[in-house]
Amino acid sequence: MPGPHASSESGFAICNLCHGPARKGSRLCWSCFEVAKQLHRRLPRVVPVFLFAPTSVPHRLLVGYKAAPSAASRAHHSSALGDVLSLFLARHQACVARDAAPVTLVPVPSSSGGRASWHGRHPLVALCEKAAEASGTSVRSCLAPGAAGTRRLGASPDGFRVVSRPSTATVVVVDDMFTSGARALSATAALEGAGLRVAAVVPLGRLVCPGHNRETAAFWREVGSRPWSPLSCCACRPRPLALEVAPSAWLEAARAA
Ligand SMILES: [Zn+2]
Ligand SMILES: [Zn+2]
Repeated sequence: MPGPHASSESGFAICNLCHGPARKGSRLCWSCFEVAKQLHRRLPRVVPVFLFAPTSVPHRLLVGYKAAPSAASRAHHSSALGDVLSLFLARHQACVARDAAPVTLVPVPSSSGGRASWHGRHPLVALCEKAAEASGTSVRSCLAPGAAGTRRLGASPDGFRVVSRPSTATVVVVDDMFTSGARALSATAALEGAGLRVAAVVPLGRLVCPGHNRETAAFWREVGSRPWSPLSCCACRPRPLALEVAPSAWLEAARAA
């Protein structure tokens, strides 16, 4: 049965969960279907801040903020992504959290234990702190890798464990890159297992590989040409937006870093 966002003319549908490309007539994309099956639960909606394709500017930012060789370059990329997340949450926190207030932002930790250059602190935490300041929320790094671990398309309710308690009953899970969703949605399962309500998962970027199949190519032809704007999000308007070209000075600066 086609989902409400199905596009009957374009040959693709938009996944009701992650807002990525789905087969025409399907409510969920294949990844979300598989991950939901593995986690045996109803999953919260995923509100990506933007969609991006491999090797694009946003892809370089998302890799570079964690792994660029110099500290200056990592800081530059972090600053650009922090601005994007801040602009987005300042405008859309209410629709993302379905008017729940107050909420806590919970960053998804690294499943591999992180890099030496992070000095024990995932760079995503700093991005969340910048966004929390702009949106009047707080941040709690309350997750740690769990016994089962996670891998691409390998979700588990034991992929993460909750090691401390956020001060609010409702949380928004924040991640950097959403590929299959196994990591972020496993984190959700752990938080819900600890009695918290997850209002939404907000990945900065959802990866779309246009060459994957015909539906994805058709999806990207339509969605990839729409410039990203912090005025719109797929929680209040169910059409995702792509960040493919530098929309403002901070992305230009990040490209030069
Ligand atoms: Zn999906
Ligand atoms: Zn919104």
